[in-house]
Amino acid sequence: MSEITHPTIKDGWFREISEMWPGQAMTLKVNQVVHHEKSKYQDVLIFESSDYGMCLVLDNVIQCTERDEFSYQEMITHLAMNAHPNPKKVLVIGGGDGGVLREVVKHDCVEEAILCDIDEAVIRLSKKYLPGMSVGFQHPAVKTHIGDGFKFLADRKNEFDVIITDSSDPEGPAESLFQKPYFELLYGALREGGVITTQAENQWLHLSLIASLKKSCKEVFPTVEYAYTTIPTYPSGQIGFMVCCKDAKRDVTKPLRTWSADEEEKLCKYYSKEIHEASFVLPTFARKALR
Ligand code: SAM
Repeated sequence: MSEITHPTIKDGWFREISEMWPGQAMTLKVNQVVHHEKSKYQDVLIFESSDYGMCLVLDNVIQCTERDEFSYQEMITHLAMNAHPNPKKVLVIGGGDGGVLREVVKHDCVEEAILCDIDEAVIRLSKKYLPGMSVGFQHPAVKTHIGDGFKFLADRKNEFDVIITDSSDPEGPAESLFQKPYFELLYGALREGGVITTQAENQWLHLSLIASLKKSCKEVFPTVEYAYTTIPTYPSGQIGFMVCCKDAKRDVTKPLRTWSADEEEKLCKYYSKEIHEASFVLPTFARKALR
C-alpha cells in the first residue's frame, strides 16, 4: 500500500500551524498515516504518532489523541453532569469521536444520551481507528443523529438536563456554535435547572473571544462560569469550558454529586471533585479579563 501523505506532515512530523495560534505550532512525530479523506464538511486525517497514540485531525487541527484525550473528555462532561442533581436525558453536539459519550454513560442516572454530529465521516472513522473513544457509541442508552447541531436544536424545547457542545473550533462547520443565537437555542432545549458546557478555547490565546463568549452566555443564562483543563496536545497545553445553568442559584463550581474516592479512581484519570472546583480558579490575568 503506497504511503499516504498530507500537507501538514513534513520530514515525518505533523505540524499544527494555524492563524488561530499565530507564531506557534504543536508538532507530533508520525509513525504512519492510516487514513485521509475530504468529507462533506472537513479534511479528515488520522495518523499513528510515535508517542501520543492514534491522532484525529480535522481541517489540520488536532481534535484528540489517544494519550491525552481523557483530560478533555472527562472535564467537559463531568463539570456539567456533576453540576446537575439528576441528569437523565443528555445531548452531545459534535463529539463525533465518541469520547464524551463514553464519559456521559458513566453516570448511572442517564436514561438517554443523544449525539448530534454534522459529519458521518468522523463517527465512521472513529469507530474504525479510535476504539477507546468510540466505545461510547456502543452503550444501549445512546442514539446518534447526523446533522448540524444548530438546526437540531431549533425545534427542541425543555427536553434535556445536560447539553455538552464538544465542537471543533469556530473556523469551519462549528462557527455558529460560538454565537449568541446558539446559546439561546441551548437555553430553550434545556429543562428547568439544566446545565451546558461548551468547548471554549484557550485563555493564553483567545481571551477576547472567551470574554465575548462569556458576555453572550450571560445575556442568556443566569449562571455562567469558565473553567479549564490541561492537555498537552491542544494549543498552549490547555483548553477551557463555558459552564452555564438555567438555575440562578446553582453554584456550578462545586459538584452537586460526587463519586467516592475509589469510584473516582476507577472511573476517571483526570476529573475529581477537587479538580472540579480547582478548574474554575483562573490566573489573575484571565480572571480580570473574564470578570
Ligand atoms: N475535543 C475537540 C476539540 O475540543 O476541539 C472536538 C472533537 S469532536 C471530533 C469535534 C466535532 O464537532 C467533529 O466531529 C465535527 O464534525 C463536529 N462539528 C463541527 N461543527 C458541527 C456542527 N455545526 N454541528 C454538529 N457537529 C459539528
